[in-house]
Amino acid sequence: MTIATPAFVQGTKKLLIGGEWVEPSSGQYIDAVNPANGEVLARIAQGDARDVDLAVAAARRAFEGPWSQYTPHERRKLLLSVHDAIVDNFEELAVIETLDMGAPLARTRGYKEWLSQLLQFYAGQTGLRGIQQTPPLSIAPGFTAIKTLEPVGVVGGIIPWNGPLMGLWWIYGPALATGCTAVLKPAEDASLAALRVSELMMEAGVPDGVINVVTGYGKDVGQAMSEHMGIDRIAFTGSLPTAQAIVRASANNVKRLQLELGGKSPDIVFDDADLDKAVPGAGMGVFTNSGQVCVAGTRIFVQRSIHDEFVERLSAFAKTVKIGDGLADGVQIGPLISQRQLERVQHYIEVGSREAQLVSGGQRLAGEFEKGFYIEPTVFANVSNDMTIAREEIFGPVASVIPFDTEEEALALANDTPYGLAGGLWTENLGRAHRVSSGIRSGTVWVNTYGVIDPAIGFGGTKMSGYGWKGGREHVESFLYQKATYFNIA
Ligand code: ADP
Repeated sequence: MTIATPAFVQGTKKLLIGGEWVEPSSGQYIDAVNPANGEVLARIAQGDARDVDLAVAAARRAFEGPWSQYTPHERRKLLLSVHDAIVDNFEELAVIETLDMGAPLARTRGYKEWLSQLLQFYAGQTGLRGIQQTPPLSIAPGFTAIKTLEPVGVVGGIIPWNGPLMGLWWIYGPALATGCTAVLKPAEDASLAALRVSELMMEAGVPDGVINVVTGYGKDVGQAMSEHMGIDRIAFTGSLPTAQAIVRASANNVKRLQLELGGKSPDIVFDDADLDKAVPGAGMGVFTNSGQVCVAGTRIFVQRSIHDEFVERLSAFAKTVKIGDGLADGVQIGPLISQRQLERVQHYIEVGSREAQLVSGGQRLAGEFEKGFYIEPTVFANVSNDMTIAREEIFGPVASVIPFDTEEEALALANDTPYGLAGGLWTENLGRAHRVSSGIRSGTVWVNTYGVIDPAIGFGGTKMSGYGWKGGREHVESFLYQKATYFNIA
Protein backbone atom coordinates (compact mmCIF):
# COMPACT_ATOMS: atom_id res chain seq x y z
CA MET A 1 0.00 0.00 0.00
CA THR A 2 1.36 3.43 -0.89
CA ILE A 3 1.60 5.73 2.10
CA ALA A 4 0.79 9.36 1.32
CA THR A 5 3.29 12.00 2.40
CA PRO A 6 1.61 14.21 5.02
CA ALA A 7 0.89 17.76 3.85
CA PHE A 8 3.10 19.01 6.69
CA VAL A 9 6.18 17.56 4.99
CA GLN A 10 6.94 20.29 2.47
CA GLY A 11 8.26 23.83 2.15
CA THR A 12 10.11 25.63 4.91
CA LYS A 13 9.55 25.13 8.61
CA LYS A 14 9.94 28.07 10.95
CA LEU A 15 10.85 28.37 14.62
CA LEU A 16 8.22 28.29 17.36
CA ILE A 17 8.86 31.22 19.69
CA GLY A 18 6.28 32.66 22.09
CA GLY A 19 3.39 31.01 20.26
CA GLU A 20 4.38 32.38 16.83
CA TRP A 21 6.05 30.58 13.93
CA VAL A 22 8.92 32.91 13.04
CA GLU A 23 11.75 33.13 10.51
CA PRO A 24 15.21 32.31 11.90
CA SER A 25 17.42 35.36 12.48
CA SER A 26 19.96 33.92 10.04
CA GLY A 27 17.36 33.71 7.25
CA GLN A 28 18.92 30.31 6.47
CA TYR A 29 17.31 26.87 6.23
CA ILE A 30 18.70 23.33 6.40
CA ASP A 31 17.55 20.47 4.15
CA ALA A 32 15.59 17.75 5.92
CA VAL A 33 16.69 14.63 4.05
CA ASN A 34 14.85 11.32 3.81
CA PRO A 35 17.55 8.75 4.69
CA ALA A 36 15.68 6.08 2.73
CA ASN A 37 16.44 7.74 -0.61
CA GLY A 38 18.46 10.92 -0.03
CA GLU A 39 15.60 13.16 -1.20
CA VAL A 40 14.91 16.53 0.42
CA LEU A 41 11.58 16.40 2.30
CA ALA A 42 11.36 19.99 3.54
CA ARG A 43 13.67 22.67 4.92
CA ILE A 44 14.05 23.48 8.59
CA ALA A 45 15.06 26.83 10.03
CA GLN A 46 18.71 27.29 10.91
CA GLY A 47 18.36 28.95 14.28
CA ASP A 48 21.25 30.49 16.18
CA ALA A 49 22.08 32.23 19.47
CA ARG A 50 19.82 35.19 18.62
CA ASP A 51 16.81 32.89 18.30
CA VAL A 52 17.75 31.12 21.51
CA ASP A 53 17.70 34.51 23.29
CA LEU A 54 14.22 35.20 21.92
CA ALA A 55 12.94 31.72 22.82
CA VAL A 56 14.34 31.91 26.35
CA ALA A 57 12.80 35.35 26.86
CA ALA A 58 9.42 34.03 25.65
CA ALA A 59 9.73 30.97 27.89
CA ARG A 60 10.59 33.19 30.89
CA ARG A 61 7.60 35.45 30.25
CA ALA A 62 5.34 32.43 30.02
CA PHE A 63 6.81 30.93 33.17
CA GLU A 64 6.06 34.07 35.09
CA GLY A 65 2.70 34.73 33.42
CA PRO A 66 -0.74 33.11 33.78
CA TRP A 67 0.83 29.66 33.28
CA SER A 68 2.31 29.96 36.78
CA GLN A 69 -1.22 30.11 38.17
CA TYR A 70 -2.49 26.94 36.51
CA THR A 71 -3.80 24.55 39.13
CA PRO A 72 -2.72 20.88 39.12
CA HIS A 73 -6.12 20.07 37.67
CA GLU A 74 -5.69 22.58 34.84
CA ARG A 75 -2.25 21.20 33.98
CA ARG A 76 -3.67 17.67 34.07
CA LYS A 77 -6.52 18.66 31.73
CA LEU A 78 -4.03 20.30 29.39
CA LEU A 79 -1.83 17.20 29.35
CA LEU A 80 -4.85 15.06 28.58
CA SER A 81 -5.84 17.38 25.70
CA VAL A 82 -2.29 17.10 24.39
CA HIS A 83 -2.56 13.33 24.80
CA ASP A 84 -5.72 13.25 22.70
CA ALA A 85 -4.24 15.47 19.99
CA ILE A 86 -1.20 13.23 19.73
CA VAL A 87 -3.12 9.97 19.75
CA ASP A 88 -5.69 11.24 17.23
CA ASN A 89 -2.95 12.32 14.83
CA PHE A 90 -0.58 9.47 15.47
CA GLU A 91 -0.62 7.92 12.02
CA GLU A 92 0.55 11.23 10.53
CA LEU A 93 3.24 11.59 13.20
CA ALA A 94 4.49 8.04 12.65
CA VAL A 95 4.80 8.64 8.90
CA ILE A 96 6.63 11.95 9.44
CA GLU A 97 9.07 10.25 11.83
CA THR A 98 9.68 7.40 9.40
CA LEU A 99 10.27 9.78 6.48
CA ASP A 100 12.57 12.02 8.50
CA MET A 101 14.75 9.52 10.37
CA GLY A 102 14.24 6.19 8.63
CA ALA A 103 12.83 3.87 11.30
CA PRO A 104 10.18 1.56 9.83
CA LEU A 105 6.51 2.26 10.36
CA ALA A 106 6.31 -0.92 12.40
CA ARG A 107 8.49 0.86 14.95
CA THR A 108 7.16 4.42 14.75
CA ARG A 109 3.51 3.29 14.82
CA GLY A 110 4.46 1.10 17.74
CA TYR A 111 5.19 4.17 19.89
CA LYS A 112 1.50 5.04 20.00
CA GLU A 113 0.31 2.98 22.95
CA TRP A 114 3.55 3.62 24.84
CA LEU A 115 3.34 7.39 24.39
CA SER A 116 -0.32 7.34 25.31
CA GLN A 117 0.62 5.67 28.59
CA LEU A 118 3.53 8.08 29.11
CA LEU A 119 1.38 11.17 28.63
CA GLN A 120 -1.28 9.81 30.95
CA PHE A 121 1.44 9.05 33.46
CA TYR A 122 2.63 12.69 33.34
CA ALA A 123 -0.97 13.87 33.62
CA GLY A 124 -1.15 11.89 36.84
CA GLN A 125 1.92 13.66 38.28
CA THR A 126 0.70 17.26 38.22
CA GLY A 127 0.08 17.20 41.96
CA LEU A 128 3.77 16.83 42.81
CA ARG A 129 4.47 20.54 42.41
CA GLY A 130 3.52 22.44 45.51
CA ILE A 131 3.23 19.40 47.75
CA GLN A 132 3.69 20.73 51.27
CA GLN A 133 5.21 19.03 54.26
CA THR A 134 5.33 20.48 57.75
CA PRO A 135 8.03 18.42 59.42
CA PRO A 136 8.32 18.58 63.21
CA LEU A 137 11.15 20.97 64.18
CA SER A 138 13.70 20.62 66.95
CA ILE A 139 15.45 24.00 66.76
CA ALA A 140 13.33 25.87 69.31
CA PRO A 141 9.72 26.15 70.37
CA GLY A 142 7.66 28.71 68.53
CA PHE A 143 8.81 27.83 65.02
CA THR A 144 7.16 25.95 62.26
CA ALA A 145 8.23 25.33 58.68
CA ILE A 146 6.81 24.15 55.40
CA LYS A 147 8.72 22.37 52.69
CA THR A 148 7.43 22.73 49.14
CA LEU A 149 8.40 21.58 45.67
CA GLU A 150 8.66 24.46 43.19
CA PRO A 151 9.22 24.42 39.39
CA VAL A 152 12.84 25.05 38.37
CA GLY A 153 11.83 27.49 35.62
CA VAL A 154 12.90 27.42 31.95
CA VAL A 155 14.10 24.01 30.85
CA GLY A 156 16.07 23.24 27.71
CA GLY A 157 15.89 19.98 25.83
CA ILE A 158 18.61 18.96 23.39
CA ILE A 159 17.64 15.72 21.72
CA PRO A 160 19.15 13.40 19.11
CA TRP A 161 17.77 12.11 15.82
CA ASN A 162 17.29 8.44 16.66
CA GLY A 163 13.72 8.79 17.95
CA PRO A 164 12.61 12.41 18.42
CA LEU A 165 8.90 11.57 18.39
CA MET A 166 9.57 9.70 21.61
CA GLY A 167 12.51 11.68 22.99
CA LEU A 168 10.86 15.09 23.08
CA TRP A 169 8.41 13.93 25.76
CA TRP A 170 11.20 13.66 28.31
CA ILE A 171 11.17 17.47 28.22
CA TYR A 172 7.63 18.46 27.31
CA GLY A 173 5.95 15.89 29.59
CA PRO A 174 7.50 16.91 32.93
CA ALA A 175 7.52 20.60 31.92
CA LEU A 176 3.75 20.57 31.47
CA ALA A 177 3.27 18.46 34.58
CA THR A 178 5.23 20.87 36.80
CA GLY A 179 4.53 24.27 35.23
CA CYS A 180 8.03 24.77 33.83
CA THR A 181 8.43 26.18 30.32
CA ALA A 182 10.56 24.61 27.62
CA VAL A 183 12.93 25.44 24.79
CA LEU A 184 13.44 22.38 22.61
CA LYS A 185 16.28 21.85 20.18
CA PRO A 186 15.70 18.81 17.99
CA ALA A 187 18.62 17.33 16.06
CA GLU A 188 19.42 18.93 12.72
CA ASP A 189 19.04 15.50 11.05
CA ALA A 190 15.47 14.90 12.28
CA SER A 191 13.35 17.82 13.43
CA LEU A 192 10.08 17.40 11.55
CA ALA A 193 8.17 15.23 14.03
CA ALA A 194 9.10 17.58 16.88
CA LEU A 195 7.81 20.56 14.88
CA ARG A 196 4.53 18.87 14.02
CA VAL A 197 4.03 17.65 17.61
CA SER A 198 4.61 21.20 18.86
CA GLU A 199 2.10 22.57 16.35
CA LEU A 200 -0.50 20.04 17.52
CA MET A 201 0.23 20.94 21.14
CA MET A 202 -0.37 24.63 20.48
CA GLU A 203 -3.68 23.73 18.81
CA ALA A 204 -4.53 21.62 21.87
CA GLY A 205 -4.30 24.72 24.06
CA VAL A 206 -0.72 24.94 25.37
CA PRO A 207 -0.28 28.64 26.23
CA ASP A 208 2.06 30.78 24.13
CA GLY A 209 5.68 30.53 25.22
CA VAL A 210 5.23 27.39 27.34
CA ILE A 211 6.89 25.35 24.60
CA ASN A 212 9.34 26.82 22.09
CA VAL A 213 11.32 25.09 19.36
CA VAL A 214 14.62 26.31 17.95
CA THR A 215 15.90 24.05 15.19
CA GLY A 216 19.46 24.31 13.90
CA TYR A 217 22.95 23.01 14.46
CA GLY A 218 24.32 21.89 17.81
CA LYS A 219 27.30 24.23 17.66
CA ASP A 220 24.94 27.21 17.28
CA VAL A 221 21.66 26.47 19.04
CA GLY A 222 22.80 23.73 21.43
CA GLN A 223 25.89 25.60 22.51
CA ALA A 224 23.93 28.84 23.04
CA MET A 225 21.37 27.00 25.14
CA SER A 226 24.06 25.34 27.26
CA GLU A 227 25.71 28.69 27.95
CA HIS A 228 22.48 30.60 28.46
CA MET A 229 21.99 32.39 31.78
CA GLY A 230 18.22 32.17 31.38
CA ILE A 231 17.92 28.38 31.14
CA ASP A 232 17.68 26.67 34.51
CA ARG A 233 17.92 23.04 33.50
CA ILE A 234 18.99 21.10 30.43
CA ALA A 235 18.03 17.57 29.51
CA PHE A 236 20.43 16.19 26.95
CA THR A 237 20.50 12.91 25.09
CA GLY A 238 23.39 12.35 22.73
CA SER A 239 27.10 11.68 22.53
CA LEU A 240 29.72 11.90 25.27
CA PRO A 241 31.84 14.68 23.68
CA THR A 242 28.74 16.86 23.28
CA ALA A 243 27.74 16.14 26.88
CA GLN A 244 31.19 17.21 28.02
CA ALA A 245 30.82 20.48 26.10
CA ILE A 246 27.40 21.02 27.69
CA VAL A 247 28.71 20.31 31.19
CA ARG A 248 31.45 22.90 30.69
CA ALA A 249 29.11 25.52 29.22
CA SER A 250 26.52 24.93 31.94
CA ALA A 251 29.00 26.26 34.51
CA ASN A 252 27.98 29.81 33.52
CA ASN A 253 24.85 29.67 35.65
CA VAL A 254 25.38 26.22 37.24
CA LYS A 255 22.31 24.95 35.47
CA ARG A 256 20.92 21.58 36.42
CA LEU A 257 21.67 18.82 33.95
CA GLN A 258 20.23 15.47 33.10
CA LEU A 259 22.42 13.55 30.68
CA GLU A 260 21.71 10.34 28.85
CA LEU A 261 24.68 9.37 26.73
CA GLY A 262 26.01 6.42 24.91
CA GLY A 263 26.40 2.81 25.82
CA LYS A 264 28.21 -0.36 24.93
CA SER A 265 25.76 -2.54 26.72
CA PRO A 266 26.49 -6.19 27.49
CA ASP A 267 24.00 -8.95 26.74
CA ILE A 268 25.11 -12.22 28.32
CA VAL A 269 23.91 -15.57 26.99
CA PHE A 270 24.54 -18.50 29.34
CA ASP A 271 24.67 -22.11 28.21
CA ASP A 272 21.36 -22.84 29.96
CA ALA A 273 19.51 -20.10 28.04
CA ASP A 274 16.52 -20.84 25.84
CA LEU A 275 18.17 -20.05 22.52
CA ASP A 276 14.85 -19.84 20.71
CA LYS A 277 14.29 -16.70 22.73
CA ALA A 278 17.87 -15.57 23.22
CA VAL A 279 18.87 -15.52 19.54
CA PRO A 280 16.13 -13.20 18.25
CA GLY A 281 16.05 -11.33 21.57
CA ALA A 282 19.74 -10.53 21.62
CA GLY A 283 19.71 -10.04 17.83
CA MET A 284 17.02 -7.39 17.86
CA GLY A 285 18.65 -5.96 20.99
CA VAL A 286 21.36 -4.78 18.58
CA PHE A 287 19.68 -4.51 15.20
CA THR A 288 16.50 -2.64 16.13
CA ASN A 289 16.40 0.91 14.72
CA SER A 290 19.48 -0.19 12.73
CA GLY A 291 21.46 -0.16 15.95
CA GLN A 292 20.81 3.54 16.50
CA VAL A 293 19.65 3.05 20.07
CA CYS A 294 21.65 4.09 23.13
CA VAL A 295 20.70 0.92 25.03
CA ALA A 296 21.66 -1.43 22.16
CA GLY A 297 23.15 -4.66 23.53
CA THR A 298 26.12 -4.55 21.20
CA ARG A 299 28.49 -6.77 23.20
CA ILE A 300 26.92 -10.22 23.21
CA PHE A 301 28.85 -12.43 25.63
CA VAL A 302 28.23 -16.10 24.89
CA GLN A 303 29.31 -19.04 27.04
CA ARG A 304 31.95 -20.98 25.16
CA SER A 305 30.11 -24.33 25.06
CA ILE A 306 27.29 -22.79 22.99
CA HIS A 307 29.35 -20.13 21.25
CA ASP A 308 29.56 -21.70 17.79
CA GLU A 309 25.90 -22.74 17.73
CA PHE A 310 24.87 -19.27 18.89
CA VAL A 311 26.98 -17.51 16.27
CA GLU A 312 25.53 -19.70 13.55
CA ARG A 313 21.97 -19.09 14.70
CA LEU A 314 22.52 -15.35 15.17
CA SER A 315 23.96 -15.04 11.66
CA ALA A 316 21.01 -16.97 10.26
CA PHE A 317 18.66 -14.69 12.19
CA ALA A 318 20.45 -11.55 10.95
CA LYS A 319 19.82 -12.68 7.36
CA THR A 320 16.09 -12.93 8.03
CA VAL A 321 15.79 -9.34 9.28
CA LYS A 322 13.98 -7.42 6.55
CA ILE A 323 15.78 -4.19 5.74
CA GLY A 324 14.40 -1.49 3.47
CA ASP A 325 12.46 1.75 3.15
CA GLY A 326 10.58 2.21 6.41
CA LEU A 327 7.34 2.92 4.56
CA ALA A 328 7.35 -0.47 2.82
CA ASP A 329 5.38 -3.41 4.20
CA GLY A 330 7.11 -5.83 6.52
CA VAL A 331 10.33 -3.84 6.88
CA GLN A 332 11.97 -4.43 10.27
CA ILE A 333 14.92 -2.09 10.00
CA GLY A 334 15.41 1.01 7.87
CA PRO A 335 18.43 3.03 6.76
CA LEU A 336 20.94 4.80 8.96
CA ILE A 337 20.19 8.47 9.50
CA SER A 338 22.78 10.04 7.18
CA GLN A 339 25.77 9.68 4.91
CA ARG A 340 27.96 10.71 7.85
CA GLN A 341 26.55 7.93 10.04
CA LEU A 342 26.88 5.45 7.18
CA GLU A 343 30.56 6.29 6.81
CA ARG A 344 31.09 6.00 10.54
CA VAL A 345 29.50 2.53 10.68
CA GLN A 346 31.40 1.42 7.57
CA HIS A 347 34.62 2.55 9.22
CA TYR A 348 33.90 0.39 12.29
CA ILE A 349 33.01 -2.60 10.09
CA GLU A 350 36.35 -2.19 8.35
CA VAL A 351 38.18 -2.01 11.68
CA GLY A 352 36.19 -5.00 12.97
CA SER A 353 37.03 -7.05 9.88
CA ARG A 354 40.71 -6.60 10.69
CA GLU A 355 40.31 -7.25 14.42
CA ALA A 356 37.81 -10.12 14.49
CA GLN A 357 35.85 -12.47 12.25
CA LEU A 358 33.02 -11.04 10.15
CA VAL A 359 30.45 -13.81 9.95
CA SER A 360 27.51 -12.09 8.33
CA GLY A 361 26.39 -8.78 6.83
CA GLY A 362 28.75 -5.84 6.71
CA GLN A 363 27.69 -4.54 3.31
CA ARG A 364 25.94 -1.39 2.23
CA LEU A 365 22.79 -2.21 0.26
CA ALA A 366 23.13 -1.48 -3.44
CA GLY A 367 20.74 -1.44 -6.41
CA GLU A 368 17.39 0.11 -5.61
CA PHE A 369 18.75 1.06 -2.17
CA GLU A 370 21.90 2.87 -3.24
CA LYS A 371 20.48 6.36 -2.74
CA GLY A 372 19.68 5.56 0.91
CA PHE A 373 22.03 4.81 3.79
CA TYR A 374 21.42 1.11 4.37
CA ILE A 375 23.78 -1.30 6.13
CA GLU A 376 23.08 -5.00 6.54
CA PRO A 377 22.72 -6.41 10.06
CA THR A 378 26.26 -7.44 10.84
CA VAL A 379 27.71 -10.08 13.16
CA PHE A 380 31.32 -10.32 14.29
CA ALA A 381 32.53 -13.44 16.11
CA ASN A 382 35.65 -14.14 18.14
CA VAL A 383 35.67 -10.59 19.36
CA SER A 384 37.58 -9.80 22.53
CA ASN A 385 36.44 -7.11 24.91
CA ASP A 386 39.48 -4.93 24.30
CA MET A 387 38.96 -4.60 20.54
CA THR A 388 37.81 -1.25 19.14
CA ILE A 389 34.43 -2.66 18.06
CA ALA A 390 33.82 -3.83 21.64
CA ARG A 391 34.89 -0.54 23.22
CA GLU A 392 33.45 2.22 21.08
CA GLU A 393 29.83 2.97 20.41
CA ILE A 394 29.13 2.26 16.73
CA PHE A 395 25.45 3.24 16.54
CA GLY A 396 24.85 0.82 13.69
CA PRO A 397 23.45 -2.72 13.34
CA VAL A 398 26.71 -4.35 14.38
CA ALA A 399 26.85 -7.16 16.96
CA SER A 400 30.10 -8.32 18.54
CA VAL A 401 29.99 -11.86 19.94
CA ILE A 402 32.52 -12.39 22.72
CA PRO A 403 33.10 -15.86 24.23
CA PHE A 404 33.44 -16.45 27.99
CA ASP A 405 33.83 -19.44 30.32
CA THR A 406 32.50 -18.62 33.78
CA GLU A 407 29.84 -16.43 35.34
CA GLU A 408 32.50 -14.38 37.14
CA GLU A 409 34.39 -13.79 33.91
CA ALA A 410 31.21 -12.78 32.09
CA LEU A 411 30.40 -10.23 34.77
CA ALA A 412 33.92 -8.83 34.87
CA LEU A 413 33.94 -8.41 31.08
CA ALA A 414 30.41 -6.96 31.04
CA ASN A 415 31.45 -4.28 33.51
CA ASP A 416 34.75 -3.59 31.78
CA THR A 417 33.47 -0.57 29.85
CA PRO A 418 33.33 3.14 30.58
CA TYR A 419 29.58 3.04 29.99
CA GLY A 420 26.75 1.95 32.28
CA LEU A 421 23.48 2.42 30.46
CA ALA A 422 21.92 -1.02 30.11
CA GLY A 423 22.59 -4.73 30.02
CA GLY A 424 20.87 -8.04 29.59
CA LEU A 425 21.24 -11.71 30.33
CA TRP A 426 19.65 -14.92 29.18
CA THR A 427 19.47 -17.90 31.52
CA GLU A 428 16.92 -20.39 32.84
CA ASN A 429 18.70 -20.46 36.22
CA LEU A 430 16.93 -18.24 38.74
CA GLY A 431 19.87 -17.90 41.12
CA ARG A 432 22.18 -16.95 38.29
CA ALA A 433 19.63 -14.45 36.96
CA HIS A 434 19.66 -12.68 40.34
CA ARG A 435 23.42 -12.89 40.90
CA VAL A 436 24.38 -11.60 37.49
CA SER A 437 21.68 -8.94 37.17
CA SER A 438 22.67 -7.48 40.53
CA GLY A 439 26.32 -7.47 39.47
CA ILE A 440 25.87 -5.55 36.22
CA ARG A 441 26.68 -1.89 36.73
CA SER A 442 24.11 -0.15 34.59
CA GLY A 443 20.89 1.83 34.86
CA THR A 444 18.72 -0.96 33.45
CA VAL A 445 19.12 -4.74 33.29
CA TRP A 446 16.87 -7.06 31.31
CA VAL A 447 16.58 -10.76 32.09
CA ASN A 448 15.35 -13.01 29.27
CA THR A 449 14.15 -9.97 27.36
CA TYR A 450 15.73 -6.81 25.97
CA GLY A 451 14.68 -3.20 25.55
CA VAL A 452 11.36 -2.97 27.39
CA ILE A 453 10.84 0.25 29.36
CA ASP A 454 7.76 1.10 31.37
CA PRO A 455 6.76 4.79 31.36
CA ALA A 456 6.18 4.75 35.12
CA ILE A 457 9.62 3.26 35.82
CA GLY A 458 11.77 5.10 33.32
CA PHE A 459 15.48 4.71 32.72
CA GLY A 460 18.88 6.35 33.06
CA GLY A 461 22.55 5.56 33.19
CA THR A 462 25.56 5.41 35.45
CA LYS A 463 29.31 5.80 34.83
CA MET A 464 29.96 7.66 31.55
CA SER A 465 26.44 6.99 30.28
CA GLY A 466 25.30 10.04 32.22
CA TYR A 467 23.13 10.85 35.19
CA GLY A 468 19.56 11.69 36.00
CA TRP A 469 16.49 9.60 35.27
CA LYS A 470 13.94 9.82 32.44
CA GLY A 471 10.41 8.66 33.17
CA GLY A 472 8.94 7.77 36.52
CA ARG A 473 8.20 10.07 39.43
CA GLU A 474 11.85 10.98 40.02
CA HIS A 475 11.91 12.47 36.55
CA VAL A 476 9.05 14.82 37.30
CA GLU A 477 10.63 15.71 40.65
CA SER A 478 13.84 16.69 38.87
CA PHE A 479 11.89 19.57 37.27
CA LEU A 480 11.14 20.83 40.79
CA TYR A 481 13.37 22.20 43.51
CA GLN A 482 12.97 22.00 47.27
CA LYS A 483 12.11 25.09 49.22
CA ALA A 484 11.78 25.52 52.99
CA THR A 485 9.88 28.41 54.60
CA TYR A 486 10.20 29.06 58.34
CA PHE A 487 7.61 30.89 60.49
CA ASN A 488 8.19 32.35 63.91
CA ILE A 489 4.81 31.78 65.52
CA ALA A 490 5.75 32.54 69.12
P1 ADP B 1 25.17 12.40 17.46
O1 ADP B 1 26.61 12.16 17.21
O2 ADP B 1 24.41 11.20 17.83
O3 ADP B 1 24.51 13.27 16.44
P2 ADP B 1 25.36 14.63 19.20
O4 ADP B 1 25.72 14.61 20.63
O5 ADP B 1 26.29 15.29 18.25
O6 ADP B 1 25.11 13.14 18.84
O7 ADP B 1 23.93 15.27 18.97
C1 ADP B 1 22.86 15.21 19.88
C2 ADP B 1 22.23 16.59 19.96
O8 ADP B 1 23.20 17.49 20.50
C3 ADP B 1 21.81 17.18 18.62
O9 ADP B 1 20.60 17.91 18.78
C4 ADP B 1 22.96 18.11 18.29
O10 ADP B 1 22.61 19.16 17.42
C5 ADP B 1 23.32 18.64 19.66
N1 ADP B 1 24.67 19.20 19.77
C6 ADP B 1 25.76 18.93 18.99
N2 ADP B 1 26.83 19.65 19.39
C7 ADP B 1 26.43 20.40 20.45
C8 ADP B 1 27.07 21.33 21.32
N3 ADP B 1 28.35 21.66 21.19
N4 ADP B 1 26.35 21.87 22.33
C9 ADP B 1 25.06 21.53 22.51
N5 ADP B 1 24.39 20.67 21.71
C10 ADP B 1 25.05 20.10 20.69
